[in-house]
Amino acid sequence: MPKNDAETSKLESSNPFLLKGLTISDVVRKEFDSHEQVESFYFNYAKVMGFSVRKDEVRYDDKGCIKLCRWVCNKQGYRPKIWLEKVDRVREPRAITCEGCLASLRVNLQHDTRKWVVKEFVSEHSHQLASNYDTQFLRSHRNVKGSDVALAMSLPSVGVKTG
Ligand SMILES: [Zn+2]
Repeated sequence: MPKNDAETSKLESSNPFLLKGLTISDVVRKEFDSHEQVESFYFNYAKVMGFSVRKDEVRYDDKGCIKLCRWVCNKQGYRPKIWLEKVDRVREPRAITCEGCLASLRVNLQHDTRKWVVKEFVSEHSHQLASNYDTQFLRSHRNVKGSDVALAMSLPSVGVKTG
């Protein structure tokens, strides 16, 4: 199959509609010039989808150059077992922030081409995704009357009760 440049540029786009529509086959085996590019793609994607990303793993080659990077959803992993076994009937356990989410992206540097190739992309989350991006996006497109803006701007920023 010929390499499709349009497909690759889809990953470099910050267009929320393109990013939201990405499928696993859009991402897996795609090439990037640098791991920074991969990271910015995944951060953009995460922002649009409504989850947060953290760097999970970086591996170096003999010369100390990065050869593998992996990012995960920050709800990846479980709370340490010891925490759960600690019997404390007085207090309810805190809300679980780690939900064993497996969403991740991993790239490896190809020795011959010096390109970063996506080797693993898990798009499913074990939890609900925040929808704040949609809200923000819609809000910015909502018609705001000039007078509302003026009013909002004239209000002091401290001690305003909006209720
Ligand atoms: Zn997740």
